[in-house]
Amino acid sequence: MENISLWLKDNPNKNPISLNEDIKTDVLIIGGGITGLSILYNLKDSNLNVTLVDTSLVGTGTTGHTTGKINYLQEDIYQKLINTYSFNTALSYLNSQKDACNKILDIINKEQIKCNLDKVESYVYTNDINKIEKLKKEKEYLQALNVHVEDYQGKFGKIKSLYAIKVNDTYVFHPLKYLNALKDICLKSGKKIYENTKIIKIIKENDLYSCFTNSHKIITKKIVFACHYPFFNIPYLFPIKANIEKSYLMALPMTKENKSLISIDKVQTSIRYHKDKEEYLIYLSLNSNISDNLDEKKNYHNLIKKLNKKPKYIWKNTDIMTIDKLPYIGRIKKNNDNLLIATGYNTCGMTNGTLAGLIISDILLNRHNKYENLCNPLRLNKLTNIDDYILNLLYSMKGYLKSKINKNKSWYSSKVSFKYINGENIGIYKENGKEFKVRNKCPHMGCSLIFNEFSKTWDCPCHASRFSKEGKCLKGPSKFDITYIE
Ligand SMILES: Cc1cc2nc3c(=O)[nH]c(=O)nc-3n(C[C@H](O)[C@H](O)[C@H](O)COP(=O)(O)OP(=O)(O)OC[C@H]3O[C@@H](n4cnc5c(N)ncnc54)[C@H](O)[C@@H]3O)c2cc1C
Repeated sequence: MENISLWLKDNPNKNPISLNEDIKTDVLIIGGGITGLSILYNLKDSNLNVTLVDTSLVGTGTTGHTTGKINYLQEDIYQKLINTYSFNTALSYLNSQKDACNKILDIINKEQIKCNLDKVESYVYTNDINKIEKLKKEKEYLQALNVHVEDYQGKFGKIKSLYAIKVNDTYVFHPLKYLNALKDICLKSGKKIYENTKIIKIIKENDLYSCFTNSHKIITKKIVFACHYPFFNIPYLFPIKANIEKSYLMALPMTKENKSLISIDKVQTSIRYHKDKEEYLIYLSLNSNISDNLDEKKNYHNLIKKLNKKPKYIWKNTDIMTIDKLPYIGRIKKNNDNLLIATGYNTCGMTNGTLAGLIISDILLNRHNKYENLCNPLRLNKLTNIDDYILNLLYSMKGYLKSKINKNKSWYSSKVSFKYINGENIGIYKENGKEFKVRNKCPHMGCSLIFNEFSKTWDCPCHASRFSKEGKCLKGPSKFDITYIE
């Protein structure tokens, strides 16, 4: 069993280039996941000088750890939108997701991208008798929105279901093959992509932004933050506008079926199949708020127990959940096209990342986009959502406090220990007689870290930053390492 995502195990990335000089550009896209590369792809034929940078290799962030479903049937989202906003908002969101699905299909067809695209039936199901009514309501709303949706009663192989709804026109693919193809196309068209290049500081100088890596500077007129969880807090106050959900996934050898499933039960399950040289079932479960269930060993073991079969690959992923279930895509400041953001995809990032590609490129090219208002990051969430803002703040505080107070030894084997050295909390991991020491404090907002013995990483229980056992920052929002040098 390997602790790596199925998509990353043989990453098709070729010849990554890092920034090795100071440069000037019109637009700097920070982040090369589905968001950043979709934006860059849509700008590839424009006259704009566009540069994309990524801390790591493109696609190896959240996008490289998904289940890779391309889907507009998203649990019970349409009734949530109708209840929070209106029928028209739900219709607009449905159209945005369908447009994004079609955009992915168009790109794959036009560019002849080989990324294991498959058309599948998608099901939302429940095993909770109290949720059947909710699913029936979702079906009614979908029909009112003119979607061809059917009932389904029966099991899915060994997976039980009391009631399900189904649509036929959804897809699955290999997200990393898709993103690497986009990378190659954009490079060929003359756009610049620098991998292993992290932005750690941004300073505004007159009308331009100076963006610093460890060794170089990029001067740009406009910045697009396509970095998943933004690495700045003020003025955007992100910790109260969104929370983070984590899930655990595994891939097991199994014969492929043309089905994609997701449950709406308390412990959610999401399933799809994938066929390449081998055939796999991809199984996701145990989703919870990032600040809950901090015993990582238990989380992984519980996942493996679910199917009673040893997985070949096992991994963890996190995504950003917004208060009203709509993504944040657009301007960070009113009437200012120089600072743009795309995030908060509520685990539907293949469509919403592609939608961000359409909206952000239209803003940069001074074109109107019909979904700009729907996804406006500056929208005023309804006052009824005030509870959710408070809840998000409490979640952040809960993660912070739990990480400080809870020094539960049962979470760890004897390889992990903690020590105060010169007043600093130091985390120690021992492997083959060698000690790896890190500062046990996330540089983002100061939370203490949890050691994940499966992936051998220090994980932040507040905002999902991740560090290697040596202390190197692998995932933001932290911009800095936590290596401890005696
Ligand atoms: C368990 C799970 C399953 C999911 N399954 C699906 C699914 O089946 N279908 C679906 O539609 N969605 C799914 N999602 C959601 C989807 O994966 C995400 O919403 C989407 O991948 C986010 O894409 P992104 O480009 O915004 O972020 P990322 O893919 O994380 O890209 C951001 C990039 O920014 C880079 N970066 C960050 N900070 C800096 C910096 N300072 N300087 C330079 N670069 C930086 C990172 O290295 C990273 O590569 C799932 C989410 C989870 C948690």
